[in-house]
Amino acid sequence: MISRREVLVGLGAGAALAACGKSKSLGRSAAVRDGSVRAVERVLAGIPAVDGAGTPLVRVIGQPTLRHLDPFILLDGLEAHGGARVPGFPDHPHRGFETISVMLEGQVRHRDSRGNAGIVPAGGVQWMTAGRGIIHSEFPETVDGGLFGFQLWLNLPAREKMRAQEYQELAPARLAEGKISSSGNVARVIAGEVDGLRGPAAPRTTAPLLLTLRLDDDRAVEIPTPRDHTAFAYVHTGAVEIGGTAVVAPGLALLGRGARVRLRARDQQSGVLVAAAAPIGEPIVQRGPFVMNTEAEIERAFAEYRAGTLAL
Ligand code: FE
Repeated sequence: MISRREVLVGLGAGAALAACGKSKSLGRSAAVRDGSVRAVERVLAGIPAVDGAGTPLVRVIGQPTLRHLDPFILLDGLEAHGGARVPGFPDHPHRGFETISVMLEGQVRHRDSRGNAGIVPAGGVQWMTAGRGIIHSEFPETVDGGLFGFQLWLNLPAREKMRAQEYQELAPARLAEGKISSSGNVARVIAGEVDGLRGPAAPRTTAPLLLTLRLDDDRAVEIPTPRDHTAFAYVHTGAVEIGGTAVVAPGLALLGRGARVRLRARDQQSGVLVAAAAPIGEPIVQRGPFVMNTEAEIERAFAEYRAGTLAL
């Protein structure tokens, strides 16, 4: 299990970087200055948090200084070592958005009130559309002693919040894996497309791009993004230069507008989660596991949860 100390050490590095971002800047290239390559607007460290049945995690998006990043609602990192047991997340509801669980190591055992159950294996992804309602449990487990993964919450626009529930169980072999940008760096694309690698996730209104990157070589990687989409890069391992700014793990780089994200490893074997999607631009009212547009809709979700009709 990740120790508080490890998280705090990481926090220190990230906070220091955010505080003196200027001195860490590596000099803006012409492409960054003219806005075609996305610049880093802010670097943020995750903060230690506890959720579910006492499960320690690192909250990256959804923390006090970054409540949301439209259309992304939350990003949590989950980590355990040495075969440590993780208490997990017993039965809890969701409504109004999608949860995307990305497992790099370890696995998650899940079960819902509608009879769905299974395991998200290492290297796999579960894309769960809560839509009008899901009540489920999620129990992360170490495999060969390790557990390392993320959960990202992607919002749904108002007209889709009450849509039918859906699971996409994306087994490891279904992700589009390959070297990109004529470098030795390997991308695994979950949603959207990079260099002809098309992720298996079904299309969404917000046109999400989601991939993990392993940067083993120091040649730059470029990822095209629609200019006005929200984008972030979460450096979970190592250190990466992003648009001319050094970002040390664990660090979230919030990216300005631009036609592409440029990344270059500063540490061998760096790892990054990259995401971009169209902002929805609607009011966000979140209470715990419900993400709606109005207080009245939140009240209704709680009432239906108490009445046992939320997940029908
Ligand atoms: Fe959940």
